[in-house]
Amino acid sequence: MKEDKNPTGQETDCSCLACSSRDCEHFCRAFDRYYGDPATSWEIVRCRSCGFGWTSPSLPEEEILGYYPDWYMGDTRRTIQEYQSGQLARSRSWRIEVEKVRHVEEFQPSGTILDVGCGDGKFLWGMDPSRWERTGVERGTEIMQLVSRHFPDVEWIGGDIYSPLLDGRQFDVATFWHVLEHLPRPRRVLRRVSELVRPGGWVIIALPNLESTQAHLFRRNWFAFDEVPRHLFHFSPRSLEILLEEAGLRVVSHRLYSRTNNFHSLKHSLVHWSEERFGNRAPYYLLKPFLFGMQALEQVRGRYGMLASVAQRAEA
Ligand SMILES: [Zn+2]
Repeated sequence: MKEDKNPTGQETDCSCLACSSRDCEHFCRAFDRYYGDPATSWEIVRCRSCGFGWTSPSLPEEEILGYYPDWYMGDTRRTIQEYQSGQLARSRSWRIEVEKVRHVEEFQPSGTILDVGCGDGKFLWGMDPSRWERTGVERGTEIMQLVSRHFPDVEWIGGDIYSPLLDGRQFDVATFWHVLEHLPRPRRVLRRVSELVRPGGWVIIALPNLESTQAHLFRRNWFAFDEVPRHLFHFSPRSLEILLEEAGLRVVSHRLYSRTNNFHSLKHSLVHWSEERFGNRAPYYLLKPFLFGMQALEQVRGRYGMLASVAQRAEA
């Protein structure tokens, strides 16, 4: 059985964690657009064989949390108030949650669900409690305490996927909404989640797609690279398939799960390009209508920027 070699899984700068090929290329350099500055940039290295990418140099596991400021999750108290007042239902971010729920229910209409790295838990708030028994795990214990006061019918676990509170349990569905790319040792994570779904159960993983048209067009300005170095890895459908299959999970589909989120990514990539190239947003406003065509092109080619891969655990 293969093991992840070091904390973030990269053995050396040019050995692919997913397929073991040593044929890699420089994809671009990117910097943390949320909390960093352009002077500190990271290299994105891409495996030519399976399309897997990684942020280099890789961060030692104990340093990763240092790149998450306290306010990373946003203002959860305010989000809960907006949910209760009905204001949240009119927002773009809520539309994305609704699209996620629809995506899950295409495969499993009811049952038990585990959301890994659930953040403030919005996705679980959006699931019908009469059909779903919901569990969220998030390492921010404070956030878990806060949401458990407001959503007592959801089980909130402070910790990570290795929490002993999850030992021996088997869910119908486990989801990762833009979480896997943040986690060290993806091989170990997928092996663990494979144990946490029942035979025939589903693992749904949404992440930015390094093979997408937008990633290759915008390169360093691609929206998903805003989160470097918190995005330790940059998956392609093929590389994810390799790791899922090793974990006993068969890939059923790689699909677009949210037009809203995909368009949001295209939009911000174009803003970055416009600001970097021209120092202002004027070209962005001029070119924005073309993004609809680009989204359609991604659809035709099946190379979306924001992908959800659905895998099923083999029946016993
Ligand atoms: Zn590879």
